[in-house]
Amino acid sequence: MNEQYDIVIIGAGPAGMAAAKLCGSTGASTLLLDEQSGPGGQIYRGIENPAIVDPNILGSDYYKGTELAEGLRQASIDYRPGAKVWQVSSDNATDKEVSFSEGGIVHIVSAKRIIIATGAQERPFPLPGWTLSGVMNAGAAQILLKTSAIAAENAVFIGSGPLLYLIVRQYLLAGVPIKAVIDTNPLSNYLRAAPYLINGLSEYKTLVKGQRWIKEIKKSGVPFINGVKELRLSGSESVESVEYTTGGEWNKLDTDNVFLHQGVVPSVNLTMSMRCTHKWCNTQLCWCVVTDAWCETDIAGVFVAGDGATIVGAIAAEHLGTIAALGALHQLGLLDEVGRDSQAESHRKVLLKGFGFRKFLDRLFQPPRQFRIPKYGDTVVCRCEEVTAGKIREIIKLGCTNPNQMKAFSRCGMGPCQGRFCGLTVSEMISQELELPVQKVGYYRIRRPVKPVLLGELGRFKIKELEPVKIGDHCGEILK
Ligand SMILES: Cc1cc2nc3c(=O)[nH]c(=O)nc-3n(C[C@H](O)[C@H](O)[C@H](O)COP(=O)(O)OP(=O)(O)OC[C@H]3O[C@@H](n4cnc5c(N)ncnc54)[C@H](O)[C@@H]3O)c2cc1C
Repeated sequence: MNEQYDIVIIGAGPAGMAAAKLCGSTGASTLLLDEQSGPGGQIYRGIENPAIVDPNILGSDYYKGTELAEGLRQASIDYRPGAKVWQVSSDNATDKEVSFSEGGIVHIVSAKRIIIATGAQERPFPLPGWTLSGVMNAGAAQILLKTSAIAAENAVFIGSGPLLYLIVRQYLLAGVPIKAVIDTNPLSNYLRAAPYLINGLSEYKTLVKGQRWIKEIKKSGVPFINGVKELRLSGSESVESVEYTTGGEWNKLDTDNVFLHQGVVPSVNLTMSMRCTHKWCNTQLCWCVVTDAWCETDIAGVFVAGDGATIVGAIAAEHLGTIAALGALHQLGLLDEVGRDSQAESHRKVLLKGFGFRKFLDRLFQPPRQFRIPKYGDTVVCRCEEVTAGKIREIIKLGCTNPNQMKAFSRCGMGPCQGRFCGLTVSEMISQELELPVQKVGYYRIRRPVKPVLLGELGRFKIKELEPVKIGDHCGEILK
């Protein structure tokens, strides 16, 4: 591995793989880092070695990743799987420093350009009882299926959105019995999305496919429960039942496993830690990093592509990865303006079509407020520090106006996940209580390292690269 690269790409999902392939083909020295053990990102996780033998179960969309992964393996780049990036320098210096851990050792490399393609995470679903064991995100259930062919029988799936229906369908195709699907999508979303149906028609095949999945689930005989207004999960140590209201009545389902999902949101911790500008998106209800037409942020030389910037889906992520790479290569003088613009044209056309569909989708599956902002005081919001909704409201009443003050008062967002599970809920709760726009309330000030690093890993950092320090330089200050 070199210590200096033209381009460092973080994330080997569709966006990162597409960017890496293009960069490699131009002779730019390129390093691709990803914490997973193989390429694929979320959608194509485990694509080089799927644990499930029958290709029908994960479906043809999953196997589209094979070609991308093969292209990546042939590209002239330095690809490092199992490399967890925990810091990127954010000053406007020409070269940026990227710090990562690989095999228990810390490395620091510098890059002229950075492409961040770190993707999405599932939106928090702070229900009463969501911290009980046996309750997971549906995405986690899918990871077990893709990487280990493990599934839980008689689980209850709760939430809404295409990914939830896809995972339920994959379970059904794998022959795993499902207790029920509780669909939390309100009727009002259909009305909200209706004016955008015309945009949705630009991808009518995807629309039809989604409808087919729902039909198949309903036809399978698995109870498909709509019109749910309230939900709670109960159990003494692990989950034992799901309770929900329909038509004002409480109902109960016994189960040992609950899988939650209400959409995905960009993973913003890295770009937040670098102080890139972010905006609250009122449609996707999440923070999105601000980028220009070439996916460049307001930190010169730092590009963000794919779901890590705004939720676009796997196909658009791939095209945006290419566009970010074109932008970076042009800045490095490896591609002239005409070449950059003409190569980008076909990708932009596909994106334009996809964005129209996204407008429809974002409204159709916007998670309802009652499942984003907990009603009951004893619902845990910050899982790491066990801070409840009641405690958060109490602190707001004392005069807390933003998530950073909330950290200081309660340690909310200061645990190992660094706010990934509670950040959105806390911003939205403060916004609701103080009747302020979320943009004004803001988000946690994210600190580095953005992923946990062991002291031992730091200790094994190659000291020879550090400037020698004369003991006297610092001792004096400490002894004063
Ligand atoms: C759990 C989950 C499951 C999903 N499953 C599907 C699916 O089955 N079908 C579908 O259509 N869509 C799925 N999606 C949505 C899908 O992820 C995206 O639309 C698409 O994969 C986005 O591509 P991307 O390249 O932007 O990011 P991703 O595919 O998410 O790739 C990001 C990559 O960055 C890596 N990474 C993140 N942070 C770091 C770091 N600090 N250091 C090193 N590496 C890092 C991750 O390991 C990952 O490999 C899923 C999303 C989630 C969250």
